[in-house]
Amino acid sequence: MLGPVILAASRSDKMRRIVSAAPVTKPVVNRFIPGETVDQVIPIVEELTQAGLEVTLDVVGEDITEVAQSYAARDAYLQLIERLAELGLGEKAEMSVKLSMFGQALEGGHELALANVRPVVEAAAAIGTTVTLDAEDHTTLDSMFAIHEELRRDFPQTGCVIQAYLFRTEADARRLAAAGSRVRIVKGAYKEPAEVAYQDKAEIDKAYVRIMKILMEGEGYPMIGSHDPRLIAIGQELARQAGRKLDEYEFQMLYGIRSEEHLRLAAEGHRMRVYTAYGTDWYGYFMRRLAEKPANLLFFLRSMITKN
Ligand SMILES: Cc1cc2nc3c(=O)[nH]c(=O)nc-3n(C[C@H](O)[C@H](O)[C@H](O)COP(=O)(O)OP(=O)(O)OC[C@H]3O[C@@H](n4cnc5c(N)ncnc54)[C@H](O)[C@@H]3O)c2cc1C
Repeated sequence: MLGPVILAASRSDKMRRIVSAAPVTKPVVNRFIPGETVDQVIPIVEELTQAGLEVTLDVVGEDITEVAQSYAARDAYLQLIERLAELGLGEKAEMSVKLSMFGQALEGGHELALANVRPVVEAAAAIGTTVTLDAEDHTTLDSMFAIHEELRRDFPQTGCVIQAYLFRTEADARRLAAAGSRVRIVKGAYKEPAEVAYQDKAEIDKAYVRIMKILMEGEGYPMIGSHDPRLIAIGQELARQAGRKLDEYEFQMLYGIRSEEHLRLAAEGHRMRVYTAYGTDWYGYFMRRLAEKPANLLFFLRSMITKN
């Protein structure tokens, strides 16, 4: 019930101002977004990789309004890649990007986003790592998949995300499950209408299993993005049935969520990648984390009440 309300609030400028300015927000935000600058996130990357985990880094930000912001987003990723290279972390840390932050929704946005993301993908490849294009709301996906296809001509290891809640995704999974492709499957984090997406959790889970099966039986590299213990167990079983070795797929979870499970899967020999977001424009990312688990919102509201 609460999830859709929080997701609606995640698009509200008024709520953004209130939540971002509240002094009690910070400690709650830090659980999911452990830094605002490259200098703050690098020690986290070192800590995670030393614990046997891999990382995908997201510089938070989306829904920009000015072209200059899209250049700033590109430059923030280029700066990050430079630091990863200096520290020799390239092989353990990849990048996740949201094309809206690269200007996708602005006028001429498709070309602008492609022009901005290309140098990031190039720089990542130069240090032995790669970039995954996150999936945002359904209206952006045709453009995202076209940019993904274009980037893969020169950088075939470029990954993309598909969302189990969308009706279109089984067909996308079949198209993408080809040799050399890297595909992250997630449930989906945006508020989507009933014309395009399953609304019922059980339906979404069933679709997730069907899509995992397509990816595991395909020729590509599946990345299972979920904290759901049942889906993780089914993913392991589907990988076994498809005859995949432990390094022929990976699990991915978000920083700050079920951290003990990250370590457990890594200790079992699985590739386990932690999606680590950082930066100052954290509002949209933070609100989606609250929407996924309303208990987070109650914790957040309680801390507001007790501190005021
Ligand atoms: C690596 C990664 C990348 C992602 N990239 C995208 C993307 O590009 N596009 C997109 O639309 N979505 C993305 N998501 C979000 C995804 O769509 C889901 O919203 C999110 O993962 C919650 O779904 P779940 O599979 O964990 O299952 P759920 O059923 O939501 O959660 C299972 C269990 O995990 C724990 N949990 C889950 N979420 C939280 C939370 N926020 N706080 C505390 N505990 C929690 C709870 O214990 C819960 O019972 C990504 C998720 C991951 C893990």
